[in-house]
Amino acid sequence: MLSSGSFKFFRFSGVQVYVHWSWFIVAWLEISTRGNAYSSPVWNVVEYLGLFGIVLLHEFGHLFACRQVGGKADQIVLWPLGGVAMGRPPPRPGAELWTIAAGPLVNVVLFPVLMLATMGFSAAGLGATLPDLERLLFMLWLINKWLLIFNLLPIYPLDGGQILRSLLWFGLGRARSLQIAAGIGLAGIALLVMYRLQTRADDWLWTLCLAFFLGQQCFSGFRHAAALLALEKLPRYAGYSCRSCQASPPRGPIWLCQSCGQRFDAFANDAVCPHCRNRLAAIACVDCGTALPLERWENVPRARSADAPPIIDV
Ligand SMILES: [Zn+2]
Ligand SMILES: [Zn+2]
Ligand SMILES: [Zn+2]
Repeated sequence: MLSSGSFKFFRFSGVQVYVHWSWFIVAWLEISTRGNAYSSPVWNVVEYLGLFGIVLLHEFGHLFACRQVGGKADQIVLWPLGGVAMGRPPPRPGAELWTIAAGPLVNVVLFPVLMLATMGFSAAGLGATLPDLERLLFMLWLINKWLLIFNLLPIYPLDGGQILRSLLWFGLGRARSLQIAAGIGLAGIALLVMYRLQTRADDWLWTLCLAFFLGQQCFSGFRHAAALLALEKLPRYAGYSCRSCQASPPRGPIWLCQSCGQRFDAFANDAVCPHCRNRLAAIACVDCGTALPLERWENVPRARSADAPPIIDV
């Protein structure tokens, strides 16, 4: 569970924001080891909180876009390596693309806002009387710019890598696009590590932590893609079709029983779990994510939509 080791910070618009405990240690290290760029260390704290705020806005960008396309979005976890927005857009390339792109778009919007604030502040001659505030505005502009550039690197699972994946999805399907994006991601991580170790050898520990975290996500991307490919190969029920995307459900123990945690074939068993006799209130379509009670699945066979990609998270 992603939110384990984290505690509840606040709730906004149905989104629970968690902060991981390690975030405080890293925050303390960052603040205490910074040079005396400001007249008082309090400004270092304010700057770090500013970074926190920018990351939060970015994550909310992802979640609100996810909701807009009909996905589920209710959690944000802040880690030292960045924020994680727990959004589940419907498994369609367009929905995924908008959900991912909306995060960096927040930074794109913030870019001129922070730049104008910094320039306006200096132009008004306030820098002489409030040099700390002038520096803070400049630093926030810089932080936002670097977050934007970093997140847009085409390295899965960074936003840039996921945008690349959604674009490939349109032509190559859900599983293949993920495989390719994760492969490019691993190559990108290797390049990033080599580059960072050469130019910023002093923070090798941070670089390796980041590489490890990103690499792990790439490998789980490969596993997910393999599961998706296996699902694509399953035979389909001719007798049912999804009301929303017209795809027929696959045959196999795919649906998760909420009460005993085992998987079973909902269409072969009249939606009743053979292990514990619990009945699924709704059966999710593996192709588009729409969940409907068995009775609401269309009993008329229809042609499966071309290249409809399935999911395993049902
Ligand atoms: Zn993002
Ligand atoms: Zn469907
Ligand atoms: Zn069960």
